[in-house]
Amino acid sequence: MNGSAVRGRAVTDGELDSPQGLLALPGVGPARAARLAAAGIATPRALLMLVPLRLERGEPAVALSAARERPGAVLRVAGQVSSWRFSRFGRRSLLRVALADATGAMDVLFFNQPWLRERFHKGEHLDLRGRVVDSGGAALVALQLGTQACPLPPEGSLTPVYAASAGLSPAFLRHLVRAAVERHAAQLDEPMAAQQRARLELPTLCEAVRELHLPSSLPAHTAARRRVVMEALLGLQARLARRRLGSRDARAPTLAVDPQRRDELARCFPFELTLGQRAAIETLRADLARAVPMRRLLQGDVGSGKTAVGAWACLAAASCGAQAAFMAPTELLAEQHLASLSALLERAGVRPVLLTGSLTSSARRAALEAVGAGAVRLVFGTHALFSEDVRFARLALTVIDEQQRFGVAQRSRLLEKGRDVHALLMTATPIPRSLALTLYGDLDVTLLREKPPGRGAVRTRWLRGSERARLLAGLEQRLAQGIQAYWVVPRIDAEDSGAQGAEQRFERLLRTPLARHGLELVHGRQSAEERGRRLERFRRGEARLLVATTVIEVGVDVPRAGVMVVEEAHRLGLAQLHQLRGRVGRGAGEAWCLLLGARSAAERLELLERCDDGFQIAEEDLRRRGMGDLAGLRQAGANAEGLDELECDLDLLLAARDAVHGDEALRELYLSRGPSAPEG
Ligand code: ADP
Ligand code: MG
Repeated sequence: MNGSAVRGRAVTDGELDSPQGLLALPGVGPARAARLAAAGIATPRALLMLVPLRLERGEPAVALSAARERPGAVLRVAGQVSSWRFSRFGRRSLLRVALADATGAMDVLFFNQPWLRERFHKGEHLDLRGRVVDSGGAALVALQLGTQACPLPPEGSLTPVYAASAGLSPAFLRHLVRAAVERHAAQLDEPMAAQQRARLELPTLCEAVRELHLPSSLPAHTAARRRVVMEALLGLQARLARRRLGSRDARAPTLAVDPQRRDELARCFPFELTLGQRAAIETLRADLARAVPMRRLLQGDVGSGKTAVGAWACLAAASCGAQAAFMAPTELLAEQHLASLSALLERAGVRPVLLTGSLTSSARRAALEAVGAGAVRLVFGTHALFSEDVRFARLALTVIDEQQRFGVAQRSRLLEKGRDVHALLMTATPIPRSLALTLYGDLDVTLLREKPPGRGAVRTRWLRGSERARLLAGLEQRLAQGIQAYWVVPRIDAEDSGAQGAEQRFERLLRTPLARHGLELVHGRQSAEERGRRLERFRRGEARLLVATTVIEVGVDVPRAGVMVVEEAHRLGLAQLHQLRGRVGRGAGEAWCLLLGARSAAERLELLERCDDGFQIAEEDLRRRGMGDLAGLRQAGANAEGLDELECDLDLLLAARDAVHGDEALRELYLSRGPSAPEG
């Protein structure tokens, strides 16, 4: 990339902030523009603000004599081609290229790439990465070949790596972002006051964007990331400020529930409500009776029984003749809430509907009609409930479950769209008060401290060495006793939803004695219907072991499940592991959470072994990882606002809030641009 003159047609005013601007970039037609938009990148500006997942440093080439001594290692080598041999075995093939440098020689193996057969010539210089294996002497299985068009990065250089999203590859995104920098970076004005930037040690937006995508050094790149994150925070704070100001005159329907009706509704539950649940319900009752829209955050550890509180509020709304929406971050969770509450709702005489993306169009139409006519009082779904074609006749209340999974930006848009509706947000991830105030503005907070009685504790073990070998036998024994178990294979990264890892584990377990107890597999790539079917088999106990990705992290509730195995636990954060193990220990018996994970995560895994209190774990997580993760700034999946960054510290957050508060013009500027993330 030479960073020279602008290619293609001249840049026009306004292009930076218009969807048309994307079409002027090389390789972007309507189809790719639509994909970008779906990933939250609707304009060149949003593209410039795409924060790379990480940086890759160009590695040095290892001498061939040294490479030979490192079986199993993935490394980079360079050398001259001295000869090659191509062989075929049926549909497979192997090209063996002899490579030599000043220190020695080594064969490079290209499997099943017959088109490379005529590719090399004697004396040619090769630069490549591969894995050292033993193949009649040390050899290198080629993984990545540097070419003229696409050379391996020079030693020591920094290359940004972007998260693949919406079917756009990291390589394409890199290419595209660079083109956008070339074309548009110079157009970026600096809205922040110089003094404030200096205090926070931030570069200008224009400098930051160049350094973000064409890194020159690690410190400069880190400062650039902070500036870009700050940009997102300014936008977010502007929207929060508008909401705060706007909500002064907002009015919501008053829902009056007298104590007698309160108790009638409580009697529909299959259990005695805990004191904490009763207290929370009493608070909600007061909130709902007012015309000021409720904005309440209910915090309670996993398994503390938040669903019942949310369900009570929905019953209360329905009993007043109004409508309520119960939103979950995933379709799976929405389906599960509906399933587990259906008996209760029936007793209370409330007929719910489920509105998710995977309904057939005729079912969806029927549901929409019923909701629009007010014939249905309670709707379960994801944030898609606030999509354009859903019209409620008398919506009075939204319950947003596992709100931390929605991400700050999305949540703030949900609340904006439901301005004159009461909102109850629920979360298992507590955050410190200072941060809550900054992020949630005027949310009131209620804590649910105790857990329902009669629940066994979850014992957590990090399995090492020989214990791992005994895992399958131990698990078999439990399954034979009728205890059910989860086996979680985490998602690896944004590119790979983990479905493959889970599928492989499932296949392997099918060939073990565990299989006779019934196995099921769920992951995010299955259709909602298929997933529902499989989960239902597990819920009914027809399958005793459920292999799953972290799609089951939140909400899934199967009381007979007593064991959870988490593979590659080192890939998951503390809070996430705590959430996951909240899936077991929901019944009376003792429950186990068995962690398999690398020694690098020893501190985290040992903390989980000794501590079962979500609040304590959250505090620890905060101490170790900074604010960003905990505050839900980090969303599942791609986040075009760049908020999934840990470098978003409290300093930036407070500075953004002050800047936006004190400066109406600045606020208007950010509001006029609108959010750069996808509309919820
Ligand atoms: P979370 O707070 O994690 O959302 P849930 O609402 O899913 O927790 O509740 C966890 C489990 O506890 C569910 O199986 C639920 O039926 C049960 N539960 C909730 N409240 C009570 C209660 N008061 N008594 C007994 N069981 C309860
Ligand atoms: Mg829950």
